[in-house]
Amino acid sequence: MNKQVKVRDRVFEVSLSEEKIKERVAQVAAQISNDLRDEHPLFLAVLNGSFVFAADLLRGVDIPCEITFVRMSSYAGTTSTGKVKELIGLKEDIKGRTVVVVEDIIDSGLTMKDLLATLHEKGPKEVRIASLLVKPGNLKVDLYIPYCCFNIPNDFIVGYGLDYDGEGRNLKDIYTVVEP
Ligand code: 5GP
Ligand code: MG
Repeated sequence: MNKQVKVRDRVFEVSLSEEKIKERVAQVAAQISNDLRDEHPLFLAVLNGSFVFAADLLRGVDIPCEITFVRMSSYAGTTSTGKVKELIGLKEDIKGRTVVVVEDIIDSGLTMKDLLATLHEKGPKEVRIASLLVKPGNLKVDLYIPYCCFNIPNDFIVGYGLDYDGEGRNLKDIYTVVEP
């Protein structure tokens, strides 16, 4: 049986080990370094969930680069197409720059869609997505994700920066909820 942990009222079991995550994050970091060697990319880490991934990813990147931290509001105004999340905290000018968005997890993809729309209004040279996890079964929008570390099933996960009701971000492995 995989290692289990209780976070608040729910039991989770390891689905991706610390070793496996480290190995894959290093591979993706090498791929980014190779692809963007002459681009001086700006990494845009989306808080809170991506802070652990961003720290490991950046230390695996061996080209000149910068990082900054932003967040998406949990909701903002509404449009004819529904609720829209807003980008908070971007101070850097991204005009003409290669930007790599660093996300913890892409589920429906709606957060990423709002973020990309906002970024594209600011005239970047290119925006690429790096996501630790993607749930392809839940994607509701068409996204090109060149730097995805792991595709996972639609189950709820915690650890390695991701939380369950605020807790569990400090877990070194990634855990999937165990249904009772
Ligand atoms: P999306 O807009 O892609 O549906 O949602 C992305 C956000 O949903 C993530 O940034 C994260 O906050 C949350 N999320 C989606 N699935 C999970 C999950 O399995 N575990 C945790 N902790 N958060 C999730
Ligand atoms: Mg996130």
